[in-house]
Amino acid sequence: MKSIRFKVIFIYFILVFIVMIISGSYIILSIQKQETKKLEEELKNSVRYVKEQIIDEYETFEEYQNVLTDLLVQRVFPLKNAQISIIDKNGKTIASTIQTNQDRFLEHKNSVVIAALAGNENFAKTRKDETETSNVKNWLSYGYPVLNDKNELEYVIYAQIDFNNVIQNLSQTTNTISISILIALFFTIIFGSLFSNTITSPISVLTKKANLLAKGNLEQYITVKGEDEIGQLTRSFNHMARELRKTVSEMENENSKLEILLHNMTDGVVAFDHIGSLVHANKVFYELVGLKESDEYKINLDFFLKIISYNKKDLKIEKNTELSVDVNNKFIHIVIIPYKGKYAIIDGIMVVLQDITRQKKLDDMRKEFVANVSHEVRTPITTIKSYTETLIDGAIDEKEIALDFLNTINEASDRVKLLTDDLLELSKFDGGKITFNFKEENLYEIVLSCVKQNIITAKNKNQEIILNEPKNKNMSVFVDIGRINQVINNIISNAMKYSYENATIEIFFDDFKNNYVLTIKDNGIGIPQEDIDRIFERFYRVDKARSRSMGGNGLGLSIAKEIMLEHKGDIKAFSKVSEGTVMQIIFPKKLHN
Ligand code: ATP
Ligand code: MG
Repeated sequence: MKSIRFKVIFIYFILVFIVMIISGSYIILSIQKQETKKLEEELKNSVRYVKEQIIDEYETFEEYQNVLTDLLVQRVFPLKNAQISIIDKNGKTIASTIQTNQDRFLEHKNSVVIAALAGNENFAKTRKDETETSNVKNWLSYGYPVLNDKNELEYVIYAQIDFNNVIQNLSQTTNTISISILIALFFTIIFGSLFSNTITSPISVLTKKANLLAKGNLEQYITVKGEDEIGQLTRSFNHMARELRKTVSEMENENSKLEILLHNMTDGVVAFDHIGSLVHANKVFYELVGLKESDEYKINLDFFLKIISYNKKDLKIEKNTELSVDVNNKFIHIVIIPYKGKYAIIDGIMVVLQDITRQKKLDDMRKEFVANVSHEVRTPITTIKSYTETLIDGAIDEKEIALDFLNTINEASDRVKLLTDDLLELSKFDGGKITFNFKEENLYEIVLSCVKQNIITAKNKNQEIILNEPKNKNMSVFVDIGRINQVINNIISNAMKYSYENATIEIFFDDFKNNYVLTIKDNGIGIPQEDIDRIFERFYRVDKARSRSMGGNGLGLSIAKEIMLEHKGDIKAFSKVSEGTVMQIIFPKKLHN
């Protein structure tokens, strides 16, 4: 009895069944009553007829007693279809149309006869099973007592009529009604199921759609097919689904705003709940700590604290904790923020991670730069001061020594001048105050003149500069010729400085689609791999002592790099210790069009 459909059919069925049974029974009973009444009336008529038309015509019974039976048989039976017996007051049958058991009414304890003998008119239905024919005979009997003037019983007229027909008719009617009930019930089931379908099918559609809705499939709509209760329910359902969609999309919108915000933050953000489980981590967080997003399942507060080497016991829950740590080759500034919920003392921990590697590097460089400058200036100044003091103390009188000292002082001041000039130039780059005088020039010509400028120095060191001529010498570049000279000279002079005697410095050109590449290759001391990226930093020298003895202060390449970047070009270094160094200067072909 689960489905409404079954219930509807069942109730419908029971209802029709009860109605049919009640009305059927009523019909059968009233037919039976009517038929009985009709037969009773017939019996009464027969008896009246016998009394008035046959018996009352004669003075006494004795005169016609012997013909009475014949009279009854001849006149009553064919006419009235009833069996008649006349019984005297002692119960003896005087005449009868009944052939058998003529005078044995009392013996058979016929209740109708007994009651009539007692003076009571009455009817009764009797049933006789005839053993010989195994037929069942139903009779309706009637006993009528005939009284004289003194109200004394004179005789009894007994009549009986075959009741079988009525019973047969009734059973036929019953059959017909039963068949009608069956047909009615059959149609009840058919129409009941059709009718219940009209109720249950929209309900089952509603149920199905509601289930889909519950599973999160919010795009549900049901066509409204009427204005009845189900139609209204359908309307409400559609309204509910619409509202739900709206609310969910608003929520998703809020969530995605937050998601976008967190995702696009340049800081890493990670949050843990009060038991230390991961609540959320953004992309930057994973990048900063060197994890993948698929490692999500691993991450909890303990794991994170381990990564940043932080002791859980030091974690303060009442205020923010700030620290800077070295994680995954990065320098990270971390702020641990405990956030409190309404009910729990601490609801969780939020951590913001900021990559400060660059700042730290810059900061370190700045400190190093100041230290370097002070150091570089201090050495020649100390020299100048000590030589000057010695001169004042008397050395000035010895001309030869004095001259030698003054030369040293001059060299030291040259060094300071060179240094301050370089520093000034760099600070101009930093401040964006440097101006360039770009012109169309021939790269080959520039390089040729640089080679000529350095050829003497090279010869003095027994070094050779080989300039490989390009196929096409017409290499037009858009440059500030003075600055480019400075760059090329620095690189040629480096190649000479950091190579032994008899070294060869080879220069060649490459003509690429977008660039001209000038390569200056030496077979000198080379640069260790770990230093190669740093040689463009200010004051960076691989071997400070050697470089200084050569008069270098480690600013040349940093200035050269700045100049090439201003030309939208670049400088690259490749090297192997003891084998030599390759420096490539890249000139874009189309500059400042
Ligand atoms: P400056 O150029 O300011 O007079 P410098 O030559 O020492 O001084 P850079 O030109 O900036 O400074 O070069 C930086 C460092 O790179 C040098 O000190 C040297 O250690 C290394 N270096 C540069 N070129 C070469 C090279 N061709 N072979 C080996 N080492 C080199
Ligand atoms: Mg140099």
